[in-house]
Amino acid sequence: MKIYSIKQLLSKGKKALHEEVTVKGWVRSFRSNRFISLNDGSGINNLQIVIDFNNFDPTILKQITTASSIRVEGTVTESEGAGQEIEIIAKKIKIYGYANPEEVQETILQPKRHSLEKLREQAHLRFRTNTFAAIMRVRNALSFAIHQYFNQNGFFYINTPIITGSDAEGAGEMFTVTNFDLNHLPKDNQDKVDFSQDFFGKKTNLTVSGQLEGETAAMGLGKIYTFGPTFRAENSNTTRHLAEFWMIEPEMAFYDLEKNIDLAEDFLKYCIQYAVDHCKDDLDFLNKRFEEEQKQKPKEEKSEQNLHEKLEFVLNNKFIRLSYTEAVEILKKSKANQKGKFKYPIDEWGVDLQSEHERYLVEKHFKSPVVLFDYPAKIKAFYMRLNEDQKTVRAMDVLFPGIGEIIGGSQREERLEILKQKMNSLGMDEKELNWYLDTRKYGTVPHSGFGLGLERLILFVTGMSNIRDVIPFPRTPNNADF
Ligand code: ATP
Ligand code: MN
Repeated sequence: MKIYSIKQLLSKGKKALHEEVTVKGWVRSFRSNRFISLNDGSGINNLQIVIDFNNFDPTILKQITTASSIRVEGTVTESEGAGQEIEIIAKKIKIYGYANPEEVQETILQPKRHSLEKLREQAHLRFRTNTFAAIMRVRNALSFAIHQYFNQNGFFYINTPIITGSDAEGAGEMFTVTNFDLNHLPKDNQDKVDFSQDFFGKKTNLTVSGQLEGETAAMGLGKIYTFGPTFRAENSNTTRHLAEFWMIEPEMAFYDLEKNIDLAEDFLKYCIQYAVDHCKDDLDFLNKRFEEEQKQKPKEEKSEQNLHEKLEFVLNNKFIRLSYTEAVEILKKSKANQKGKFKYPIDEWGVDLQSEHERYLVEKHFKSPVVLFDYPAKIKAFYMRLNEDQKTVRAMDVLFPGIGEIIGGSQREERLEILKQKMNSLGMDEKELNWYLDTRKYGTVPHSGFGLGLERLILFVTGMSNIRDVIPFPRTPNNADF
């Protein structure tokens, strides 16, 4: 007897009629002592199992309750119910695990609509819900698409360290890694913690970016990418920040900023197209969810497009590209700015753009993804290439509707002297980054790269609005329970 996943069987449809099959899964519901709705995680759709209760021991039927796990052997038949082609007439049922209905009542496994907050409180059970399982399947597809894209385009996947000895990456607040007994910290003669006695003989942190290490790899392998966990201890409790997230960082020798932006656009479109092509059922489900959510929103926050339209729009339109200077002009003159609608008013060139400004440009002004480039040097990292104007650097941010920044990148400063000057002016210790500066000594080349936050891409593709809902076990301030 052939064992099928529910997805396999449903997609075989009527071609499977009269086959004797085995399926396994979790009971979503059991109606009228006759209809089991079964799901095994392979897809969003449930399989209906029909039971002739005359053929089954009533004590066994009693144990088939919501959330219990079962194996069913039976015959595929045409379904009379709406919304499904086929169903299984059960001949034999084995119960793997019972679920006490009273206890299930208290959990998100109870078949009804639960709030996303409630789902987050039971992160260990979320995989059994339609919404979260759909998101996780999309997450899987996107991760696969990312590897596939780079693999097909001549990039090498490299793994940069999670524990890093340089605290000069400058991308955000870091978590310290130590094996000190925190109750008995060794001190130096200035009463500071003596990290020379720590495990690595120095202070170490969890990585905030693999870029600097990625650059060293690109200086030998040409085109590389990293894809790994990234940590930031920023205490920003927003819907777009996690303390632990997954970042993809390609780095390319001989790429200038234009080629870098071209790559970012092509890459994002490839990944979104992959999800559209491979996650149809899940995206249909998430689209319905998205549309319902929009109904609850006040008029000015409502999205004009549904989820499918949002994705198609990004796929079919070229991203708008404009310089920081042009963006600031637009923002300065905007009604929002003049009517004092921004929390951070834009009054002069040089200010850092906040998420409200990024979203204004994308959602109100251009109604399109936007790539901003040539930012003021002062608000960007030390390694970005200085422009002729001596004021701006070859930075670029890709801004998406509903998200704000999804990618941040730049052409790197490949000129040793200029890079050193910059580091000195920021008070950075050259010695700490000798290994990095070496890439500019032995055959330096123009090069570029960027970082994409995986969860921000998933937010966009699934239409979810809180980043905690698109990662299996979110890590945020005051939250590391599961
Ligand atoms: P933001 O301004 O949104 O905080 P950033 O400029 O600090 O982001 P970068 O250092 O440029 O972020 O990191 C590259 C990408 O990593 C970002 O474009 C974003 O997609 C993602 N990212 C950064 N910080 C986080 C975070 N705390 N949680 C999830 N994704 C993040
Ligand atoms: Mn950034």
